[in-house]
Amino acid sequence: MKLTFEYTWPYERMMNDIYISECPFCKKDNVLTSFKEEQMNLAKEAIKQILIMPCCHGKITILNADDDYFYTDEKLRGQS
Ligand SMILES: [Zn+2]
Repeated sequence: MKLTFEYTWPYERMMNDIYISECPFCKKDNVLTSFKEEQMNLAKEAIKQILIMPCCHGKITILNADDDYFYTDEKLRGQS
């Protein structure tokens, strides 16, 4: 599993909500995700989570997470 910068995507936590600062698919700003504490904890334990972006239904497969980034199974950067 590659955990390089190209396979990461930043998120932000506000209270108990998880926001994606920019959707990798449609570039929408500050997208509120359906992720809650339980899914974040699973992701941080490297249990695969699927995040469907509510803005455009783009799918992000999350393999791992830290306090700032999701680690994904595909390159999200460099796409447009
Ligand atoms: Zn989107």
